[in-house]
Amino acid sequence: MCGAILSDRNQMDGREIILEKIRLKRGVTPYGILPDADYTARKQELDGADFWSKPKELLEKQLCPFYSTGACSVWKYRDHLCATYFCSSIGGASGKRLWKAVDRYLKMMQIILERHSMIRAGWPVYEIFPDDLNAGDIAMEDENGNVSDANYRRIWGDWVGKEEEFYLLCYKYFRETEPESFRQFAGLGGEILESCVIEAHRHFLKNVLPDQMRLSPDLTTEEAGPGRLVLRSDLTSYEVPVLLMPLIKGFDGLRSTKEVFNLGYDVLYNMDQLVDGLLSHDLLIKVNKSQK
Ligand code: SF4
Repeated sequence: MCGAILSDRNQMDGREIILEKIRLKRGVTPYGILPDADYTARKQELDGADFWSKPKELLEKQLCPFYSTGACSVWKYRDHLCATYFCSSIGGASGKRLWKAVDRYLKMMQIILERHSMIRAGWPVYEIFPDDLNAGDIAMEDENGNVSDANYRRIWGDWVGKEEEFYLLCYKYFRETEPESFRQFAGLGGEILESCVIEAHRHFLKNVLPDQMRLSPDLTTEEAGPGRLVLRSDLTSYEVPVLLMPLIKGFDGLRSTKEVFNLGYDVLYNMDQLVDGLLSHDLLIKVNKSQK
């Protein structure tokens, strides 16, 4: 991807961002530009916090570095992986499983093509990291979060100072790769991931969320400790934060599923997991057109 953007003079914003990263060396590796140690540390902190307690400054710092003037500056070349990221899916959990399978398949393709280009560029095969990796895996930064020159030299070898040239060369090799060769490189692992995508897609088509849903008519609630409620029906129960009850009640059989999700987005809450939980416990049911 880096080589593609660097070679395209119409991609000025994306190009400038990559060149600046190369200048600062942060996250810059022969495997592409990776999230740096600061990003990874912030992500761990955010992943461990409830959505309403995530500090705004921390969230803002996580904005993708390629986001520029209201749009993605590298979309022309980075659409493949980012397009598989969905905050929520019309297929609920099945939809997320499908996009995860597509994401794994595309990542596998990217890794194979990257490594193949590295080998063609003369990189010693035994030095190539075989799996997906982040900057932490190859210890780019020292304990203070600064890129260590020694580590950077160890990672880049003779290509230090010629990173742009290296990315451009890899892109040239990528363009020369025939689809048949790719199948051969991907081998059995590629076939397995491809079948996972096909199976996940089949499952997804059977599990698209209903357009309209309502809470089970026999649903009752009961307190379950500070700030928590248990939703019960005859056969099942599911615990939720009290704060989410106004959103849950949005499933009144009149609003569409999309409208209820939008109520959640209005307060920066993604109802995806909540809805999966309610559905899997039969606490949400489909509204048939004849019931309206
Ligand atoms: S689409 Fe991907 S690369 Fe582009 S700004 Fe968003 S997260 Fe970044």
